[in-house]
Order: sequence, then C-alpha cells, then structure tokens
Amino acid sequence: MKIVVRIKLVPDTAAKVVVEDGQVTWGDAPLVINPWDEFAVEAALQLTEQHGGEVIALSVGEESSREALKHALAMGCNEAILVSDYVIDPDTQRTAKVLAAAVEKIGDVDLVIFGKQSIDGDNAVTGTQTARNLGWPSLTLVSAVPALDVDAKTIRIERAVEEGRQVVDGVLPAVLSIVKDYGEPRYPSFIGIRKASKAEIPVWSLEDLGIELPNVVVSWSEIMNPPQREVTNEIVQGDSVEETAAALADKLFAEKVL
Ligand SMILES: Cc1cc2nc3c(=O)[nH]c(=O)nc-3n(C[C@H](O)[C@H](O)[C@H](O)COP(=O)(O)OP(=O)(O)OC[C@H]3O[C@@H](n4cnc5c(N)ncnc54)[C@H](O)[C@@H]3O)c2cc1C
Repeated sequence: MKIVVRIKLVPDTAAKVVVEDGQVTWGDAPLVINPWDEFAVEAALQLTEQHGGEVIALSVGEESSREALKHALAMGCNEAILVSDYVIDPDTQRTAKVLAAAVEKIGDVDLVIFGKQSIDGDNAVTGTQTARNLGWPSLTLVSAVPALDVDAKTIRIERAVEEGRQVVDGVLPAVLSIVKDYGEPRYPSFIGIRKASKAEIPVWSLEDLGIELPNVVVSWSEIMNPPQREVTNEIVQGDSVEETAAALADKLFAEKVL
C-alpha cells in the first residue's frame, strides 16, 4: 500500500501572530509541522504497520518546509518530497491542484491523508479540493479505520461528528482527513532524527508536474489585527472557601455571566 501524507509548515502555536504594515508576522518564533498533520502522519504509520506499505510525506511550500518534512521522516515516514516554485503563490484551489498533480506523479497511491486543518490558514478544505481534482472520494474527520482491504480496494472509516460516530464505507484510492481521536502522534525516535537529518528531499517544480495553475479565486484583500479588548482582573477573596465562592457567585450573577 502506498500512502501520501500531506504536511504543512506553520508558525508555532505559542507564536504571537500580529499584522504589521498589512503583513502577517510571528517575529522570531519557530515554524513547525502543522500539529494536525502529526495526527495524519500517525494514522499513515499505523495503517502501514497493520497492512504493510510505505508512507511518503509531501509538502507544497518554500524551502523552509523541509523542516516539517524532516519531522515527518523522523516520526517514521519512508520518503519526503517538496513541491516548491515561486509562481505557486497559493489560494487553496491552487494548492489542491498542485497536491493532486504531485500524487499523480508519485503514482499508484492508495490513500492520501491530510490533517483536519492547518492552524494558520484554517480553511479545512485543501483535502476535499485535492480529492475533487483527483476524482477520488473524500472521507473527512476520520477517527478510526476499522477495515481496509487494499486488494479489494475497499475502506471502512469512522467519522467523529458532534452527535457521535458515523461509519462510512468507501473505495480506494481515497483521500482522508484525520482528527485527534485517531491517536496521539508518536515522538520522533533518535534513530529517526538522525535518518531525517541525512535524508535527500527532492524538490519538484510546476514544470516537473506539467500543470498550469488556475487563477487565484480567493485573495486576501485586507488583513488586520483583532480589535483590542479592555480586560481587567480582580481577585475575589473571603475568609473561607465558602465565603470566597459565594462572593464569586454574586459577582458572576451581577455581571449576568450566570
Ligand atoms: C505567501 C502566501 C500567500 C497566500 N495568499 C493567499 C491568498 O491570497 N488567498 C488565499 O485564499 N489564501 C492565501 N494563502 C493561503 C493558502 O491558500 C493556504 O496556505 C493553502 O492553500 C492551504 O490552506 P489552509 O492553510 O487553510 O489549509 P487547510 O485546508 O486548513 O489544510 C488542511 C490540510 O491540508 C494539508 N495542506 C494544507 N496546505 C498544504 C501544503 N501547502 N502542503 C501540503 N499539505 C498541505 C495539510 O495536511 C492540512 O492539515 C497564502 C499563503 C501564502 C504562504
């Protein structure tokens, strides 16, 4: 079985992201693998451990995206590929078209696995748009894969939806997006980190993929910081726990919080 897992480089969750002169900046904060994509890698690794096969990590982005790919390699992915071309300048449809073309170039892929969403763009649509480009089923919010038959080309998944769990049957090849219920991502091993540091990561251009990109249909016309909020702090005190709790409850009622 051949699985491609999609990896995006994003600012660390602890970074303070602000807009300066119309540009988004996160200062010196490091860029890391999108946390949701670690769950996608975990799912891909578990599936190949159960059913055999290989996992290829794939990213579309600048040279710096190598760092996220190296993290995926250190977790246990077999190979990594970067698609990098200054003309890509993405919206999600362009990104999805590039990702789909890269899957076709890799060839014989059974599953493409995405994170639920990226923590910077937050569109949560790139997986489904990639599936549409490939003409493959899109199975979203996957929390488990209870059955998979690569020869019969069938897959059964569980979807974590607000009301409970949905069991869905689909056919391979397919595109999945993974939620955290799938299982805690493993830590990169020491051997994995050493292997990743020496790994050759090929870089593909749009010319290598042989595609032309559609026009950008969604553009960021303005980016702004959220309005500043006035926040005041007050420490509620009393002579006993009961008194403190009662004083706190009175204040919450007075502010109509309760
Ligand atoms: C310089 C720059 C300019 C941009 N300008 C615009 C713009 O004008 N208009 C606009 O709409 N957007 C713009 N974007 C954002 C761009 O559309 C998104 O980064 C990208 O399309 C993915 O969307 P998302 O981050 O919301 O991912 P989601 O859809 O939330 O991601 C879901 C999953 O898809 C996968 N994935 C997402 N992106 C990648 C990737 N690059 N490589 C591999 N896997 C991936 C990951 O597994 C991720 O968990 C810009 C981004 C950059 C870097």
